Amino acid sequence: MKSQNQPHTVYFSDFDGTIAQLDIGDTILRHFGDPSWQDYARRYALGEINSQECLRGEFATLRATKQQILQLVDTLELDPTFPEFVRKVHERGDELIVLSDGQSYYLEHMLAKYDVHVPFYANRAVFENGGVKLEFPHLNPDCEVNAANCKCSHMPKHPSERRVYIGDGTSDRCAAGKTDLVYAKGPLLEWAKKQPWNYRPFRDFADVMAQEGF
Ligand SMILES: [Mg+2]
Ligand SMILES: [Zn+2]
Repeated sequence: MKSQNQPHTVYFSDFDGTIAQLDIGDTILRHFGDPSWQDYARRYALGEINSQECLRGEFATLRATKQQILQLVDTLELDPTFPEFVRKVHERGDELIVLSDGQSYYLEHMLAKYDVHVPFYANRAVFENGGVKLEFPHLNPDCEVNAANCKCSHMPKHPSERRVYIGDGTSDRCAAGKTDLVYAKGPLLEWAKKQPWNYRPFRDFADVMAQEGF
């Protein structure tokens, strides 16, 4: 039964490649990382290392200050239909929660730039000695996809009658599998096709709005 303050639907969304048009973490690495960062990405894609090992290794190759990184991040874009999606979700009394295996400083920067106010869970970065050290406050050793930020561990904190997931990647799998409906693209869509999930392909947030009947 619906309790008084509980939203009908909670939308859980990935950030990089879903809300942000590009993967911002990868874009930062392409600009400021040693090319060896791609070895970690390749080993992660092959399943040889988990996302925590991948991210830690990738970002250890990076040489830049926080200011340099934020200058680059500032040139990147979110899906232009995302702010309208959030406005409509809130108008309906529903919620949107961002679950990201990216890093808090660039989520904060981009969400503020687009004047979007939503809760998010992400990894942390400490800027020291001209580089970046990652911290993983939401690591869960039992995560079924071994994500650095175990996305599904946040879902019970946001109860609702209906859970919807929106995403594109490997780190989305554990959370997406625990929802009523998954909007999937990219590698998550290929994965969804082989799962017993209720899923729909999507292009962008305008497409999700249309499919949700907003
Ligand atoms: Mg993604
Ligand atoms: Zn998990």
